[in-house]
Amino acid sequence: MGELNSLAQEIARWREEKGFVTNWEGMLAKLMLVVTEVSEAAEAVREDSREKFAEEIADTFIRLLDICGSIGLDIERGINQKMEMNRGRPYRHGKKSQW
Ligand SMILES: [Mg+2]
Repeated sequence: MGELNSLAQEIARWREEKGFVTNWEGMLAKLMLVVTEVSEAAEAVREDSREKFAEEIADTFIRLLDICGSIGLDIERGINQKMEMNRGRPYRHGKKSQW
């Protein structure tokens, strides 16, 4: 098992020890909590605080990795498979927009 999947399992264990639950049945709420962390990162940008930005991006990854570790999602495999697909896409995915 790679480092990212190990970290996901470690975060899921830590979350469980703290009495919180992450499972498929509550997944919509967990995804919304990911969104709140992204919103906090956006607020940090508005405040021009790179320190707070780094903290909120870390929170975002922690919540995502908790989800992966809790439902046994092999995120390393998933990222590698998706990046393989992404590498085959054209420049700007064939669109004009830089976003
Ligand atoms: Mg936060």
